Amino acid sequence: MPLGGSVMSTDSDIAQTGMREACTLLPVPDHGDMTDAQFKGTACVWCCTPISTDTAVDLGQRRIRLSDGHITVSPRACGPCTAERIPGALAQHTATCEQCVDSSFGCDTVTALRHLELEASR
Ligand SMILES: [Zn+2]
Ligand SMILES: [Zn+2]
Repeated sequence: MPLGGSVMSTDSDIAQTGMREACTLLPVPDHGDMTDAQFKGTACVWCCTPISTDTAVDLGQRRIRLSDGHITVSPRACGPCTAERIPGALAQHTATCEQCVDSSFGCDTVTALRHLELEASR
């Protein structure tokens, strides 16, 4: 018998938390352009490739405004698409981060983004 249910990641893992924050820096498409599968996180939010829990990169929760309120979605993406967008997110971050103006060494966000890039390009 298969073990039912999904394996939840532990919130106590600080590295994971940093990663999740870094993920939210990656811009996702407008919800009007997203398919059902993309909303559910079963297809890459950028290229529509079906993804499994093994290959998906969790992009964190996003609040989306609809005409009649808000919904929260958890978009996911494939590794190549994520890796492709990290340099842009890094550039955007370092332009606005006080710590990165001095030096990006020691900036948690940069560390998390770099880590995510490694994970995504496995
Ligand atoms: Zn993709
Ligand atoms: Zn920074």
